[in-house]
Amino acid sequence: MSASVIDFIATEARFGARNYEPIGVVLSRGEGVWVWDTEGNRYLDCLSAYSAVSQGHCHPKILAAMVEQAHRLTLTSRAFHNDQLALFYEEIAALTGSHKVLPMNSGAEAVESAIKSVRKWGYEVKGVPDGQAEIIVCANNFHGRTLGVVGFSTDPETRGHFGPFAPGFKVIPFGDAAALAEAITPNTVAFLVEPIQGEAGVVIPPAGYFTEVRELCTANNVMLVLDEIQTGLGRTGKLLAEQHEGIEADVTLLGKALSGGFYPVSAVLSNNDVLGTLRPGQHGSTFGGNPLACAVARAAMRVLVEEGMIENAARQGARFLEGLKDIRANTIREVRGRGLMLAVELHPEAGLARRYCEALQGKGILAKDTHEHTIRIAPPLVITSDQVDWALERFAAILTQDFS
Ligand SMILES: *Cc1c(COP(=O)(O)O)cnc(C)c1O
Repeated sequence: MSASVIDFIATEARFGARNYEPIGVVLSRGEGVWVWDTEGNRYLDCLSAYSAVSQGHCHPKILAAMVEQAHRLTLTSRAFHNDQLALFYEEIAALTGSHKVLPMNSGAEAVESAIKSVRKWGYEVKGVPDGQAEIIVCANNFHGRTLGVVGFSTDPETRGHFGPFAPGFKVIPFGDAAALAEAITPNTVAFLVEPIQGEAGVVIPPAGYFTEVRELCTANNVMLVLDEIQTGLGRTGKLLAEQHEGIEADVTLLGKALSGGFYPVSAVLSNNDVLGTLRPGQHGSTFGGNPLACAVARAAMRVLVEEGMIENAARQGARFLEGLKDIRANTIREVRGRGLMLAVELHPEAGLARRYCEALQGKGILAKDTHEHTIRIAPPLVITSDQVDWALERFAAILTQDFS
């Protein structure tokens, strides 16, 4: 490591709250699937900022939209109208088939906004007695880091010593429709769930699960809230992961790739009157729906479709998954994925996934461990067949070694 690399890392450690433990690489440039460190080494990005950079680093058309808008108007607040918000609404509604849109910034804010909205809907439309609304969530969920959200996490690291937490949440196992049927009461307003649990290690539910979930929610007048912040916008090979089972959520949450990694932009989308219960003054955000965010998001959605990234995610995801399955290595317990949302789960005795990620860095691949034994793989959706094959060679070289 050169002096400058050590300096960046040491300075971060000296001044920063240590709420992350980054891999020892200092990045200074990105283009498409590639990133470069301060010493000029090139890496294939197999994390894509947790799927926020799905369109590839510094996509030129999103960049141009951002720069153009930044020259014109960046922030008005919602005290006034701006000439980008209506266009953003129109385009995201057309793309996703939604009827109402609430723009926010971070993913966690979209989740919080959905929780507020479904509770309000529960009291004002469904007729739940005030203060009694229940929301059902799944074990091993990940919906962000705000106090409201970590309060219904089941991960001791995520919630430990942050309480007391808000009541009104009930936890059931993921992928178990019978558990949902049992948990629903007359006061249940929503079921909040990820189509595929990303942070839990790319956990895919059994086929048919979401069809049953949809039926149960409809039968009991419970809002199905799908957190597609990670799975949405092409990551799994379809625009929305719900399409793999041909269902429609009542409320869909988007974030991350909604800006192609340029700017925090998130949105709550609803198919019905859930968002209609919000009246002026009852919810808001200074930056939510600002013209810069809207211009960036419009470009991010446009390139996703125009450049065929969703179809490419399906095609290259299948190639990547096949290639990973073909690797004969004692270290691998399971390979799973849908589209370009992939994971390699290691045998516990193979050692920590972190060691494998550090070794992959030495081969020019940046990937991220999750939950000790799982390597998650989520490259930008613009990856080519040659680049997939290039990555597979390197995964094979590392996974056949033992880092225990
Ligand atoms: C990343 C993520 C969030 C939180 O998004 P932030 O922008 O980090 O607040 C919520 N839900 C899911 C499924 C995510 O992957």
